[in-house]
Amino acid sequence: MPSSAATASNQSKSLQLLAKYFGYSAFRGAQATIIDEVASGRDCLVLMPTGGGKSLCYQIPSLMRPGVGVVISPLIALMKDQVDALEAVGVKAAFLNSSLSATAANQIERQLANDELDLLYIAPERLMTERTLDLLGRIKVALFAIDEAHCVSQWGHDFRPEYAQLTILHARFPAIPRIALTATADEQTRAEIIEKLSLESARVFVSSFDRPNIHYTVVDKTEPRRQLLKFLQTKHEGHAGIVYCLSRAKVDQTAAFLNEEGIDALPYHAGLDQATRANNQARFLRDDALIMVATVAFGMGIDKPDVRFVAHLDLPKSIEGYYQETGRAGRDGLPSNAWMTFGLQDVIQQRRMIEQSEADEQYKRLSSSKLDSLLGLAEAAQCRRLHLLEYFGEAHGPTYRCGNCDNCNTPPRTIDASVIVQKLLSAIYRTGQRFGAAHIIDVLQGKSTEKTRRFEHEALAVFGVGKDCTDTQWRAILRQCISLRLIEPDFASFNTLHLTDAAKPVLKGERVILIKESVFAAKEASTSKTRKTKTSSAAKSVSAQGSSLFEALRQWRTALAKNGNVPPYVIMHDSTLAAIAEAEPSDFEDLESIPGMGEKRREKYGEAILQIVQQVSH
Ligand code: ADP
Ligand code: ZN
Repeated sequence: MPSSAATASNQSKSLQLLAKYFGYSAFRGAQATIIDEVASGRDCLVLMPTGGGKSLCYQIPSLMRPGVGVVISPLIALMKDQVDALEAVGVKAAFLNSSLSATAANQIERQLANDELDLLYIAPERLMTERTLDLLGRIKVALFAIDEAHCVSQWGHDFRPEYAQLTILHARFPAIPRIALTATADEQTRAEIIEKLSLESARVFVSSFDRPNIHYTVVDKTEPRRQLLKFLQTKHEGHAGIVYCLSRAKVDQTAAFLNEEGIDALPYHAGLDQATRANNQARFLRDDALIMVATVAFGMGIDKPDVRFVAHLDLPKSIEGYYQETGRAGRDGLPSNAWMTFGLQDVIQQRRMIEQSEADEQYKRLSSSKLDSLLGLAEAAQCRRLHLLEYFGEAHGPTYRCGNCDNCNTPPRTIDASVIVQKLLSAIYRTGQRFGAAHIIDVLQGKSTEKTRRFEHEALAVFGVGKDCTDTQWRAILRQCISLRLIEPDFASFNTLHLTDAAKPVLKGERVILIKESVFAAKEASTSKTRKTKTSSAAKSVSAQGSSLFEALRQWRTALAKNGNVPPYVIMHDSTLAAIAEAEPSDFEDLESIPGMGEKRREKYGEAILQIVQQVSH
């Protein structure tokens, strides 16, 4: 068959399978092309953001090609849920890892030998055993999918030594197509994957790293816990989400605080014993209304699609970190929030951590410039998404507005703050560049203290020139100046402040400093207010999400999930429930057009759903 005809027939077949099993009517982005490549027996490397739809890129070719699709993944804890989710839609799947008994593993090996499986999830160390390789040599293998392929990278955080041996697949099974997948974007990792996995001839697919359904907000830190509480109460009542804190102690305190306020929350950090961590993680995965308060130790491989928000009470270390952590929200494509409180203390704390770390100078400089990029994002007066995407090399031009971030929805007004900043800079300069923020602000405000008297600062011309700004405002201005690198705190000596070379042109009036007007507004003005977002199709399903029909469907799903001991999203995703609540289907034909309702789900749950719709809507 000529290859264009092969492609055409592949494409109609893959669309059929997409509708039949997964209940979707069209492929997203490069999915169709990737699936066609792999189904035709060619290798691919796929870089797609979290929630981009990587799984279908190997699941559908596995169904199209004879034999079993072998998926290699380091995330053993997720395999059962992944297999449950596939079985729920009628795909014959199983997993092999160290959590299985010998009898259960033997049973699966028999199924493999009898060609009874469409997909097999396997841990890399299990795959590498001679026994497994031998078995795979005797049966028909449709493809190898190498998930989380960045684990081959020695320089990344997730390095797995067994991944480095996976090149054996190419040597031993040269005729079987391989597809490597990752959500890590950078060039270096990409090159390493190609080299370590011998994927030189693979076609490479790089998607945009934009996550359009995530709404970004950064608020000035005033009373972080109260601000968090208000955010949860106004936007995320009864939702699952993650709250990130920097320290273990803060994790514990924050989780306790939320529980006192009647919000279900669990802690997660490296100081908890293994059993508690595993238990808390399992509960989070299975519950659709639980909050995990965690350090960054939590998150790798959290494949929960219905995380509705990620909140940061402390600043991450870099834009990569921020992107990865916030990226755990909204894998299912529904509107989700990335929310962060940010204050002067964050900047000082992060700079101190870099300064005082054991790392060499080069590493410190790198960390410091990464922090600067993140500060640029946190302080930005323009679109947050613009900042994020530009950081990952996706240029959109300075006039780009995403329409789904705080700055696009309520553009902050900026004012020329050059004179105010000059006052701050000269107060630091005139007092000898050896005092911390508190004293400098006292001087500016003309507050007579033991220190101002002892050092004779009351005689200075700057004493009292800043009475028109409050304490909070001065701290906000100071933070902007530190972010702009006009001022640097000296960590070796009690965070005393000194000027950098960049301060000179400002003092001389040669450089204009624009600062967000909100910095000067009343204290509460910048904390979370309910903001209107653009009504997109995703936002529409959010309104359906709040309806009584949606809630009734959700209750029904919770009961089913508890009964079957599976996470609720394995029964069906929030997006499917929202689509049902919006469409109010009255018969089986209506159900066919609901995204996510494939053949098996219609058969299994159609009757019950139609009944609920009838009861609630009429
Ligand atoms: P990734 O592995 O890239 O993080 P997933 O494969 O888990 O992403 O897919 C994310 C979500 O998008 C899932 O809920 C999946 O069902 C949904 N999805 C993927 N492809 C499509 C599609 N073509 N149409 C509709 N939904 C899709
Ligand atoms: Zn924006």
